Amino acid sequence: MIMDKYRIDSHKLMYHIDRVYEWLGGKVIYPIYLEVAPSGLCNHRCIYCGLDFMEYKPIFLKTEIFKKRLKELANLGIKSIMYAGEGEPLLNKDIIELIRYTKNCNIDVALTTNGVLLDKNFLRNTLGYLSWIKVSLDAAKQSTYIKIHRAKTTDFKKVLRNLETAVKIKQKNFYNCTIGVQLVLLPENANEIISLAKIAKNIGVDYFVIKPYSQHPLSLTKKYKNIKYSKYLNLVQKLERLNTDKFDVIFRLQSMRKWDSAKKDYKHCFALSFWSYIDASCNVWACSVYLTKKRFYLGNLYQQSVSEVFESQKRYKLLLWAETKLNTDVCRINCRMDEINRYLWELKHPPLHVNFI
Ligand code: SF4
Repeated sequence: MIMDKYRIDSHKLMYHIDRVYEWLGGKVIYPIYLEVAPSGLCNHRCIYCGLDFMEYKPIFLKTEIFKKRLKELANLGIKSIMYAGEGEPLLNKDIIELIRYTKNCNIDVALTTNGVLLDKNFLRNTLGYLSWIKVSLDAAKQSTYIKIHRAKTTDFKKVLRNLETAVKIKQKNFYNCTIGVQLVLLPENANEIISLAKIAKNIGVDYFVIKPYSQHPLSLTKKYKNIKYSKYLNLVQKLERLNTDKFDVIFRLQSMRKWDSAKKDYKHCFALSFWSYIDASCNVWACSVYLTKKRFYLGNLYQQSVSEVFESQKRYKLLLWAETKLNTDVCRINCRMDEINRYLWELKHPPLHVNFI
């Protein structure tokens, strides 16, 4: 049985029952989680990139003003930030400062990266501050990696070396940071999954996650929009043999099944109260699937304070519209909030006999 102790293929909203309760009572609440893009620029051009329509612009989050906003965010109840987004976060020259400052504001902080710039200096200065790092690796062979990431030939080995360094620094300093490796399952890398799982295990990372592709509605890339995962599901048995108490393979079976069936158990979106996306220009969006769509634009944190953006009429109206009118059939399948929406939908639409617990 493949365990998912991090609940990557599920959600953790039930651990924030106070916020959920406020939302159920009709209050406009602050998000728990934010995804923030420190950089619009990327040093790779992954063939499955969902945010290719953002055009990898050389825009970087301005450190001093964002630090001010981080303090406000912490005071207003934001509990976690993942630095990732439309570019490679490590291309922001102040990323170390941003990570440390975020944690010092009492906001949990995590990072998704391609790992090329994950060098010793970065790791020594941030591993003690990060809750987790996830590195997109996507292949076990250099040739496949270069084809999928459209990266420099030397990048593959560099990322492997960086992961080794990360594990060493973590172990030496007894840091709690969880280090993971991720693969988006595509026909190009399907034959390399077991090998990459073994590579990740030998390096000593904490987990290796295999997730399905998901078509972003605005993405220019359409190559994988009809991909089916049923033929890959038998990989689970082989992968689970690699699990130990120190290493987990997380095969996102549930997400793959949901992708193949394209079925959603909710009609509208309840999740937008609980998260938001901040792009590299400090624009706040209610959902990363609708970047560039005016309706989902909430404001700009260079020009406005956090409370001005999150307590605005615009946000209130958008949340109301999303909960009553937005048709989620047109949304991305397996969007980041899918499991949360399933949970919230059930809460709002309880079955019969709930008192018989
Ligand atoms: S259902 Fe998902 S994609 Fe659609 S608005 Fe909600 S969070 Fe965004």
